[in-house]
Amino acid sequence: MAQSKTVKTAEFDSIVIGGGLAGLIAAHQLEGTGRKVALIDGLDVLGGSCRTAQTKAGPIDHGLKFIPETQESEETLAWLETVLGEPIQLKRVEAPPLTYDDGKFKPFVGFGDQKIESAAEVSSYAKDRYLQLSTTPKDWIPKLIETFTGTLMTQSYATKMQVDDEFVIEILVNGAKRLSGREVLFCANPQQLARLLPESHVPARLRQKLIKGEFFTSLNLDLVHAAPVTDSQSIHVLKGANEEPCVGLFREPTKMEDGKLVQISQWLTLVHRDITEEPELVASALKQIKRQVKRAYENSLEGLIQERIVVNPSSHGDLVGVLPEDGQWPKLQNLWVVSGLMDPNKNLIGSLRQTRRTLAALAGEPVVAIDQDTDLSEGPQPTA
Ligand SMILES: Cc1cc2nc3c(=O)[nH]c(=O)nc-3n(C[C@H](O)[C@H](O)[C@H](O)COP(=O)(O)OP(=O)(O)OC[C@H]3O[C@@H](n4cnc5c(N)ncnc54)[C@H](O)[C@@H]3O)c2cc1C
Repeated sequence: MAQSKTVKTAEFDSIVIGGGLAGLIAAHQLEGTGRKVALIDGLDVLGGSCRTAQTKAGPIDHGLKFIPETQESEETLAWLETVLGEPIQLKRVEAPPLTYDDGKFKPFVGFGDQKIESAAEVSSYAKDRYLQLSTTPKDWIPKLIETFTGTLMTQSYATKMQVDDEFVIEILVNGAKRLSGREVLFCANPQQLARLLPESHVPARLRQKLIKGEFFTSLNLDLVHAAPVTDSQSIHVLKGANEEPCVGLFREPTKMEDGKLVQISQWLTLVHRDITEEPELVASALKQIKRQVKRAYENSLEGLIQERIVVNPSSHGDLVGVLPEDGQWPKLQNLWVVSGLMDPNKNLIGSLRQTRRTLAALAGEPVVAIDQDTDLSEGPQPTA
């Protein structure tokens, strides 16, 4: 554990900033080594991109959560099993990606010579084989939250980091409250560090990559269709002329409380910058997704039961190789960055792999399974 004069009197051994899947696992594992841990998140719900979404057809995962069948996915999920202390059964699905063109479905084989801004990101979803998991983030997140007994602070946004020499000595929260920790794990989008840290501690090349790098905002649309649309398990890559593609998947049909059989589909399209503040562009991108779905499945939008929209700025992009493997920030001995953007796996597997690498550097990778006998009635209460 990093130690210095400057942080000797720290309130916490570890401060974990960001309570998404990565931050929750990191907090849990560090606590398992006996550290006194504080976990802070800017929102009032934990889980980040993995938080549960409620729909009229029941809870679903936030976003596609598509996991390609690769050795890295399987190895990482095996590690996650040990963290969660429960098995995750994998069903291997072979369903080559589909597209819709000239009035019919065809295998998707790439974009050819079309100039598609998000081609590389979209291609990471267009795989022939993927994994369906017996439990998904919506099951893991509550378990990680319930079993964390450290200090949990929601609605607590890190707004500044104070640095002394080679150490982060204080985190400013919501511009007012101060927290100090011997080590700090930043488990949110690393781009923020360009403004959270003093300018003197963000090397110019790194700043350039964080600010000017290739990032995409994902616009996500979850649809609850009034009746089953298709039994296809394939990833769909749909695209009209002069449009950015959208990718999506139909889930198994589910029964509503009134016995009605419905089907959920989840879609996303990627735009090449943060357009969160541009509502017309968001609206037109979402309309485009619906147009593409309707083109492929003509009656699928009739009597639509629900549509749910989520915008995630800079959720996709590439920061591979900008920091050392374990995520340690240059010239700061107690700051580590954990982000899936730093791993070649462009999905939650990348985020888990990065978490694992940082934990290995900090604590020799202890795997502390959640204690199945923990009395959950005394779990932590979020404090604002
Ligand atoms: C729309 C979408 C679709 C996706 N689709 C897939 C997919 O199909 N397959 C797949 O495998 N993966 C997918 N992913 C990726 C996967 O969800 C993420 O890799 C994973 O959830 C990342 O977890 P994380 O903990 O690293 O970050 P996040 O989930 O982003 O969590 C970061 C947390 O930090 C908090 N935070 C941010 N800034 C601060 C701050 N300054 N102070 C305090 N708290 C802060 C946020 O509130 C958030 O809770 C998708 C992600 C998105 C957004």
